Amino acid sequence: MKSSFRPALVNGPFQDCALYVALRWQGDALLFDLGRIERLNPANILRLSHVFVSHTHMDHFMGFDQLLRLTLPRDRELTVCGPPGLIDNIAGKLAGYTWNLTESYLFRLIVVERHERHLARAAFRAATGFAREPLPDVASPAGELVVTPGFRIETATLDHRIPCLAFAVVEPRHLNVRTDVLDARGFQPGPWLSRLKAAIRADNDDEPILVTTSGEPQTIKAGTLRRELVDDQPGQRITYVVDTLFDQPNAEKIVALAREADVFYCEARFLDVDRDEADKRHHLTARQAGFLARVAGAKRLEVFHFSPRYQGMAQAFHIEARAEYSGETRLEDEIPWAAALAGGRQAARAVGARGDERV
Ligand SMILES: [Zn+2]
Ligand SMILES: [Zn+2]
Repeated sequence: MKSSFRPALVNGPFQDCALYVALRWQGDALLFDLGRIERLNPANILRLSHVFVSHTHMDHFMGFDQLLRLTLPRDRELTVCGPPGLIDNIAGKLAGYTWNLTESYLFRLIVVERHERHLARAAFRAATGFAREPLPDVASPAGELVVTPGFRIETATLDHRIPCLAFAVVEPRHLNVRTDVLDARGFQPGPWLSRLKAAIRADNDDEPILVTTSGEPQTIKAGTLRRELVDDQPGQRITYVVDTLFDQPNAEKIVALAREADVFYCEARFLDVDRDEADKRHHLTARQAGFLARVAGAKRLEVFHFSPRYQGMAQAFHIEARAEYSGETRLEDEIPWAAALAGGRQAARAVGARGDERV
């Protein structure tokens, strides 16, 4: 299976946060966090359709000016999503400049705040000097942020003494038609396959599909065709978590968001020897990141956002995270709630493997 998402951290692990995700098929790209982005090629910045900001501490948000500088003359719309307060933060940034020469510009910013049950929105257009234009709120189920045909963004609000959003970019499932079965049944490829995939995605098993065959067309229910003809595989999932306290409510949300992620990008501000300080600053240690990745069943863990105090010690972060991720060290042996979380996940996997209902 070809990967649809190509993720890459923009900076080194001791530098500002920014994860660039190129969308292979659409030609667009997404950016998670807006720390310094000078290292990002301008052509890549111009591909951005959405930017997701976890929180507006400087090391996650100061790249906004650079982003604006490059996208301003372009005829495009850019959506920036983040926690409550983002609209004010962006209005404040925009108010710091003079906009008397942008009347003819077409650039438009849409800013979206994830609140508990709704999305608050505002538009800012270069043509009006970025005057704030409120847009109606949108009801939105918790955990969901953006849904498009090519990707979906899931989110969770974590505790960093302020709300800090974690994100997962999720690809729709892959529906691959088995050409061997197609040939064996005498079915001819055609537009009916697109109708079949649409019916499968909408869970409409009873929808009749008119199938082109080598003889007379046949009407067959989508569910029957799905079982015979289609390999159904989950799409890619990339999870991005920064700046959060290691406690039970946060860990539960992170594990859900990183569940079986293909890549799990997780902050590790401290080494575990400084766990008390990590707690005080509402950050994770490398070991805690390894634990979360293991319990979530993430296929790959990338730790980053190391504190500059450990400059030159990047290897120590990787070793510590890997030891916990592989189960060589086990945080659940020290922390009762971690044991409950790890135990629950293992039980769920064991039951799932037997084909029973998940617990
Ligand atoms: Zn922060
Ligand atoms: Zn940070």
